[in-house]
Amino acid sequence: MSIDCHVHPWTRDFMKKNGPIMKACEFFNLDVSKLPASTDQIVSEMDEAGVSKAVILGQDTHATGNPSFKNYTLKNDSLAAIAGRADGRLIPFAGVDPNAGKDAVKELKRAVNDLGMKGLKIHSSANSVYPNDRKLMYPIYDFCQENGVPILLHTGTTGLGDCDIRYSKPEYLDEVCQDFDGLKVAMAHFGWPWSDVAIAVALRNPNVFLDISGWKPKYLPSNILPYLNGILKDRFLFGTDYPMLRQKEWMEDFRQSLEPRLKPGVSELLLRRNAERLLGA
Ligand SMILES: [Zn+2]
Repeated sequence: MSIDCHVHPWTRDFMKKNGPIMKACEFFNLDVSKLPASTDQIVSEMDEAGVSKAVILGQDTHATGNPSFKNYTLKNDSLAAIAGRADGRLIPFAGVDPNAGKDAVKELKRAVNDLGMKGLKIHSSANSVYPNDRKLMYPIYDFCQENGVPILLHTGTTGLGDCDIRYSKPEYLDEVCQDFDGLKVAMAHFGWPWSDVAIAVALRNPNVFLDISGWKPKYLPSNILPYLNGILKDRFLFGTDYPMLRQKEWMEDFRQSLEPRLKPGVSELLLRRNAERLLGA
């Protein structure tokens, strides 16, 4: 049993309408013709790879000024519909646009209470908003903390074009986690190239998780390994960043290149148990 914590329910047609995503395809050197034709493909690819569940991520840029992101929103209702067809195997994390102010919290409330979303995803660079923005982000964190809603934040560089990576520096999350010590925060992509900072933030804040998505296991930087195998073994999360990386190729690579280097029990923490804690399962 394993849980992929980082899946984008994107289809080829959706991606083609988004310049920043097409730049990410170039970044990942992807053959566009191999991108998913439909979101129903996610579960069949999970089956092929032996992955039991996946967190599917929403995204919302409707109130963000950056014109490159005008087609980027994936409505929470669509996300709920995709999850609804998957027999409980797809766990939806809502997307809201922090730039919408009070409406962002309202939409998050609706997504959690009416649509059954289990968490929130924010991509600070796509939304051009700093994670420690007291006016735009703190009301969202308040809701998440009060309602036990985990939040996955993009951190580090991004393959997405037409946006700035400075919004996604992990250091901003230290302040957030100090102010919201009951909030569960997952830092996507372990904040690379600021992964030392991301690790420092995780060491100071017990509710911080780090996902290793967007990397083939064989390319994971070697300075991550002592933490993954040691003091932070309860905090790392398996994630692919589907469809940029596919579960089958990720798992094959993991079994060959990373699993043999993990201490006993760490593989199970990484693939499943830490995600269960994040999700409150
Ligand atoms: Zn991603």
